[in-house]
Amino acid sequence: MTIPLPIALVNARPVGIAELAASAVARAPAPDRHGSFPVEAIAALRGAGLLVAPLPEALGGAGLCTPGGADRLRDVLRGIGRGNLAVGRIYEGHVNALALVLRYGSDPVRARFAADARAGHLFGVWNTEPAEPGGLALGTEADPAVLTGAKSYASGAGHVTRPLVTARLPDGRRQMLVVPLDPEARAELADWRAHGMRASATGTVDFSGLRVEPLDRIGAPDDYYRQPFFAAGAWRFLAVQCGGIEAVLEAHRGHLTATGRGGDPHQRARLGQAATAAETARLFVEHAARLATTEPVEGDRAVAYVALARGAVERAGLDAIELAQRSVGLSGFLEAHPLERLVRDLATYLRQPAPDGALVSAAAYVAGADAPVHALWHDPEPT
Ligand SMILES: Cc1cc2nc3c(=O)[nH]c(=O)nc-3n(C[C@H](O)[C@H](O)[C@H](O)COP(=O)(O)OP(=O)(O)OC[C@H]3O[C@@H](n4cnc5c(N)ncnc54)[C@H](O)[C@@H]3O)c2cc1C
Repeated sequence: MTIPLPIALVNARPVGIAELAASAVARAPAPDRHGSFPVEAIAALRGAGLLVAPLPEALGGAGLCTPGGADRLRDVLRGIGRGNLAVGRIYEGHVNALALVLRYGSDPVRARFAADARAGHLFGVWNTEPAEPGGLALGTEADPAVLTGAKSYASGAGHVTRPLVTARLPDGRRQMLVVPLDPEARAELADWRAHGMRASATGTVDFSGLRVEPLDRIGAPDDYYRQPFFAAGAWRFLAVQCGGIEAVLEAHRGHLTATGRGGDPHQRARLGQAATAAETARLFVEHAARLATTEPVEGDRAVAYVALARGAVERAGLDAIELAQRSVGLSGFLEAHPLERLVRDLATYLRQPAPDGALVSAAAYVAGADAPVHALWHDPEPT
C-alpha cells in the first residue's frame, strides 16, 4: 500500500504547532455523511507533520506525548476539535495509540511503529467491542497466535491502518496489539447511522483469522488498564470536546452578530452563560492535563480530578448547546446553519463511557482524602 510520506514538521515551535493543526483542519473540508471520513483533513494533518508529532524528538517527532509536550498536545487537540470534532476524535485516537506504544512497547516495537507513523500510517485505539462472545480474542486451541472476533465503535474503520486493539487471552486478561490492516480492509460501517460525528467512520472491524506476530504485541497483559494512565488519559478527549464547545459558542456569537440581535439583554445573558461554560471547560481541561501529565503523576488525585473534569466538560457542553439553540432559534436546526452540525457532533461526542461511575469514584476520593478541601487539587504556593 502506498501512503504519501509526511513532509517534515513544518513548525514545531511551542506556540506554533497548535495553530498549525487548527488551521490545517479549518482549511480542509470535512464531509457530514453517514459512514464518511475526513480524508482531506487527515491528509492535511499528515502533510503538516502532525501524525509524527506525538513521537519523541529522538524518533522524529515533536514530543507531544512527553510530559514537556503536554501543553502543546492540549492546545493541538483543542484546536483540531474546534475545527472539526470528527477529525479531533480520529487524531486523539492516533495520539493515544502512539502514547501506549511509547509507554509499554519494547524498543524494537517502538522503533517499528514510530517508522510506521513516519511513513504516514494512521493509528487508532479500538477497545470497545460487541457483547461477548463477539469480542476480540487472541488464541484458539489450534493456534495461540490467531485472532477471532471483532471491535465495535471503532473510529476510522477502513482508514486506520495501525489499530491498537485489546484482545482477550484464554486466561481472561487483555493483550494490547497493533494489527496492521490494509485500507478499507474488514471495515463495516453500515450501522454507523449516527446523530452526529458521521465523518468519524466509527464502525465494526472483524479480525477473525488474522495471525499475530511477536512484534505486534504491546506490553504485558492488562497494561492497557494500568492506572493512573488509563483513567487520567481521558483528559485528551476532554481537550477535543473543549474545542467543540468553543466552536458552538463561536457559531452562537456569530449568529447574534449577523442578525443584529446581540444587544438584546436576554441574548446577552445567554451569551455570557455560554462563554462561562466554555471557559469552565477550558480551565478544567487545563488543570486536568497538568495533573495527568506532571511527573510523577499523583495517581488517585489525578484520576479523581480528571473524573470531575469529565462531568464539568459534559455539563459545559450541554449548556453551550442549549444556550446556543435557544438564542439562535429554529434556523439553528436547519442544515444550512453552521450550528446544526456542530451541535450534533458535540452532543454525540459528549457520550463517553461510564460518566456516573467516574463522578461517584471522584466523590469517593473527595470523601476519603486527608487534604483540606482547598488543597485537594491545588498545591500551596511555594513560599
Ligand atoms: C464518535 C465516537 C467515536 C468512538 N470511537 C471509539 C474508538 O475508536 N474506539 C473505542 O474503543 N471506542 C470508541 N467509542 C466508544 C466510546 O469509547 C464509549 O464506548 C462510548 O462512547 C460509550 O458511550 P455510552 O453512552 O454507550 O456509555 P455507557 O458507559 O454505556 O453510558 C451510558 C449510560 O449508562 C450508565 N452506565 C454505564 N455503565 C453502567 C452500568 N454498569 N450500570 C448502569 N448504568 C451504567 C452511564 O453512566 C451512562 O449514564 C466512540 C464513541 C463515540 C461517541
